Amino acid sequence: MNANLAAALNPPVRILMGPGPSDIHPRVLEAISKPTVGHLDPYYLQTMDAMQVMLRDLFRTQNEMTFAISATGSGGMEATVVNLVEPGDRVVVCVNGVFGMRMADVAQRAGAEVTTIERPWGEVFTVDDLKEVLVKTQPKLVGIVMAETSTGAAQPVAEISEVVHEAGAMLLVDAVTALGGMPVEVDRWNIDAIYSGSQKCLSCPPGLAPVSFSQRAVEVALNRQTKIQSWYLDISMLANYWGSDRAYHHTAPINMSYALYEAVRIILEEGLENCFERHLDNHLALKAGLAALGIDYTAQTGHQLPMLNAVRVPEGVDDASVRRDLLNRFGIEIGGGLGAFKGKVWRIGLMGYASRQANVLLLLSALEQLLAEQGLQFERGAGIAAANQHYLQG
Ligand SMILES: *Cc1c(COP(=O)(O)O)cnc(C)c1O
Repeated sequence: MNANLAAALNPPVRILMGPGPSDIHPRVLEAISKPTVGHLDPYYLQTMDAMQVMLRDLFRTQNEMTFAISATGSGGMEATVVNLVEPGDRVVVCVNGVFGMRMADVAQRAGAEVTTIERPWGEVFTVDDLKEVLVKTQPKLVGIVMAETSTGAAQPVAEISEVVHEAGAMLLVDAVTALGGMPVEVDRWNIDAIYSGSQKCLSCPPGLAPVSFSQRAVEVALNRQTKIQSWYLDISMLANYWGSDRAYHHTAPINMSYALYEAVRIILEEGLENCFERHLDNHLALKAGLAALGIDYTAQTGHQLPMLNAVRVPEGVDDASVRRDLLNRFGIEIGGGLGAFKGKVWRIGLMGYASRQANVLLLLSALEQLLAEQGLQFERGAGIAAANQHYLQG
């Protein structure tokens, strides 16, 4: 036998309550194991068509150019930026966390002249924050993150979109964590380009990035002075593959498409409104439970995400050992803080299939035990009782 032969795969079963990937629905795991067909097989083409129709429902848009990029969420970010931005274009990026910073970096690399505006981590942008920079820089594009997964802040988009369009700019929205967990209204909010990822509230493995481009954005991408710098992400070529031509571009990840297809089907079957309500309900239960343990949220009141609970690690508690024990003793994964929040913040995801009453109560119960072991003073059982009280009241 080959001495280099690695052990057979035997991944542990985890409860994924971090910032993503989230727990995968069993139906999605089943879908991914169905027979692979060719990427130009009539069955696959028909599947792509049906997926596009479902993705439009999910994004609440009529945009023709709605499909999935073969990449993770960051690839969706890259795809929207490189198609819309030419070297020298002025772009404004709103930065109040890690993913706004990433978007600014991506735009810079695409040759844009980037101006960032900032809010403290955990806060969101208002229309007033944008007015001055819009007048001063006259940007082609404004980028903003709807659900900032590093801080747990929920950014309202509708009013921002109005001022952005009044200034003649296009609006680019990061909905990686938002999509499937809270309302995302591409047409009503007049969003020009938007991207998401498969592994957050869609509860699908990572690897696909649903995107949507408005008619205006498509025209901008097709009427550029310069060639789109990325061959792989060029929507004029991707459009020929996803459109009626079905021209070979790259080999689509067939089985991942099955997974996303089933994941979106599950959400539409539940109903978008019911799905959002479930996310909110479990978030409020967890929040009540954490509050009873004296744990606060990092995001400003009124703008806390339902699917990502970013909370302060209590004084005197060791961040890493709690997360390690949650994983090793309870099989629960939660996330640590990123950037400025490293070591200070826990990020508890209640995304997609993981947003369930059982998970909320299990996490609170495990957390109470670990915090008590670390000597934190609180009324034992108070967290679970408060969460249950929320569920009782409905
Ligand atoms: C996760 C995430 C991304 C990046 O997605 P990947 O799939 O990790 O590439 C971008 N933006 C936000 C808001 C995210 O939460």
